[in-house]
Amino acid sequence: MIGASSWFPALLHPIRPGPAPGEVRMSVALYVDRRMLEHRPPPAHPEKPERLETVLRHLKRTGMLDACPAGVVREATDEELRRVHTGDYLASVVDVDRRGGGALEADTWMSPGSLTAARLAAGASIEAVADVLGGKYRRAMGLVRPPGHHALTGGAMGFCLFANVAVAAREALARHQVDRILIVDFDVHHGNGTQDAFYDSGEVAFLSVHRHPFYPGTGLKDETGTGAGLGLTTNIPLPFNTAPRDCRAAFRAGLHALADRHRPELVIISAGFDAMAEDPVGGLGLDFEDFDVLTRDIVDVAETHAGGRIVSILEGGYNPSLLAGCVQTHLEALGAGRPEKP
Ligand SMILES: [Zn+2]
Repeated sequence: MIGASSWFPALLHPIRPGPAPGEVRMSVALYVDRRMLEHRPPPAHPEKPERLETVLRHLKRTGMLDACPAGVVREATDEELRRVHTGDYLASVVDVDRRGGGALEADTWMSPGSLTAARLAAGASIEAVADVLGGKYRRAMGLVRPPGHHALTGGAMGFCLFANVAVAAREALARHQVDRILIVDFDVHHGNGTQDAFYDSGEVAFLSVHRHPFYPGTGLKDETGTGAGLGLTTNIPLPFNTAPRDCRAAFRAGLHALADRHRPELVIISAGFDAMAEDPVGGLGLDFEDFDVLTRDIVDVAETHAGGRIVSILEGGYNPSLLAGCVQTHLEALGAGRPEKP
């Protein structure tokens, strides 16, 4: 385990506020809070604090952390979480927290700091979306844990407590002037929780590229939505030995087709990096350059349809060093570190 570095306290109380009016804006605001490191599943669990610690230390070392403005992070409220989750599920999570932690299901655990961390992960996602839709930033990334895309309406699943991206999308529809959102999920696992949340929605389109057959088993090509959402879910299941260039081509084609159909006003990325070759949990043979290409494809459709507005939320990626490099690559492809075009 890597100890907290001396610069961590700055993350608790962000010292880099958003740009003043007229100031040249950097492109990608970062939403992170050190208390998300206090979610501590059992020691052998792959979704460990070291993931985020290593990402932050790497971004500090490369200058990226200082090049990006820091967004304000807060805990999601019960009202916000209830836009996706049932009251019974929230009550059960609070109950486990009161007992000091424990297992929520086979893969998902809580420690004493987990409830706060999970509320912060959802709250960071909500605030990132609010700031981008409010015009404060064009791009934002939530460096959050626990991840969210497997979380169900009524239960935890696959390391995920709350559905960070789905909650943020619902908040955007409820509170901001936006009617059409596209969620793009390139985590190696199918984003089943996000798909479920919006399967019949005509407002939120969902695209997932993922390894299949693999956990959680869903995400077949013929899962395309229902009712008002018919045709607004795109699944791209890929076998383990798919060549990276074929992954990229399938992703690009599916992404452009869905974006042209839905014409999103905001793009949210479920940014999991466990399709990286040698990821200890996933792995689909991808390398840093592939995440650069996938990200640039998303930037293209966001520029075409959504005024360039993108919010990226961290999902999986379980080799901390590789994850750190992937996040750096992803942020650079989103434009971080470059002054915005006037
Ligand atoms: Zn994953």
